[in-house]
Amino acid sequence: MNEIWTLSEQHGGKLKDVSFELLARGRALADTLQSQLCTVVLGNKIDDKELESLIFHGADTVFYVENPCLGDMVCEIYAMVLAYLVGEYTPHVLLAAATTTGRSVLPYLAVKIHTGLTADCTDLAIEKETGNLLQTRPAIGGNIMATIKTPNHRPQMATVRPKSYKALAEDRSRSGKVVRVAWNPEWNDTRVQVLSYREECGNSSSLEEADIVVSGGKGLKKRENFRLIEELADSLGGQVGASRDAVDRGWASYPHQVGLSGKTISPKLYLAVGISGAVQHLAGIKTAEYIVAINSDEHANILQVADFALVGDLFAILPQLLRRLGTQ
Ligand code: FAD
Repeated sequence: MNEIWTLSEQHGGKLKDVSFELLARGRALADTLQSQLCTVVLGNKIDDKELESLIFHGADTVFYVENPCLGDMVCEIYAMVLAYLVGEYTPHVLLAAATTTGRSVLPYLAVKIHTGLTADCTDLAIEKETGNLLQTRPAIGGNIMATIKTPNHRPQMATVRPKSYKALAEDRSRSGKVVRVAWNPEWNDTRVQVLSYREECGNSSSLEEADIVVSGGKGLKKRENFRLIEELADSLGGQVGASRDAVDRGWASYPHQVGLSGKTISPKLYLAVGISGAVQHLAGIKTAEYIVAINSDEHANILQVADFALVGDLFAILPQLLRRLGTQ
């Protein structure tokens, strides 16, 4: 079997954008091998329209497993169900997004089914002759891009950074099928139970979806000054991001971190304030449409990639900017 599989993610019964991004890449791989693209949805009470939308975005088959305990991601249960499906249908490739779900479930699954996993890929291709998945990801602190093959493992598994691909346009003329997989009571057997679900304060979950992101770095000097970033993001209707240095200092929480070990984002406008533009930071913003940098150092690396730069003291520039925007 040469099937390419993806794991689609949902929250509250609604499919996440990343599911469609992954389908776009899966479709390209399946077309190269002239094989089928299948996607797995684990959830509860997801309506038919949602499931069909996966077909309109490239899937040939949607495997849907429904149960109340699949509403929220529980790593053990998700991995058990996926291990069953992989055993039953033997896909050639299984992809998940490098999100909390993918990063938790796929390593667990890899151990269960004795296969390999390449985490955090930014690009995927496939060798037509051998069917080997070419899995490209940053290595050595993001200084090189390594392409990894796992010729002896099936399925070949990878997690893919969100925003690495654009979803295909919806094509309502596409046809495919939804296969409902019967629930096996043995999958209830877990010690983990989700008692409640709390949204992260500051709404960093939408960082990846935001059109405008304002990020602050070590140049802000202290936590109290980080409110300037929050105010600017607020007045522009954007989200707050941060460099790793700012996160390590406790000025912003980890879900706000942009970069190699944080989030990959693709906003229309990215404002980097007091951020030097280390290669690991830039790895998270390479698909941003416009980058604007505010930095006192005219030789800062961020200026190499910025479309516009304000060279000067951020403590002079930000208050002026906020006043112009009418918030100070
Ligand atoms: P600095 O590099 O110290 O830059 C501060 C900037 O502020 C300077 O350019 C300075 O000119 C400017 N500045 C200072 N004062 C002012 C002022 N008054 N007005 C205007 N500008 C001013 N980093 C990330 O960001 N994200 C990641 O995901 C990430 N992952 C990593 C993974 C690995 C494996 C490693 C090894 C490192 C990673 N890093 C990551 C860290 C990265 O290498 C840098 O250390 C970090 O990005 C630097 O953060 P910064 O730009 O805030 O600080």
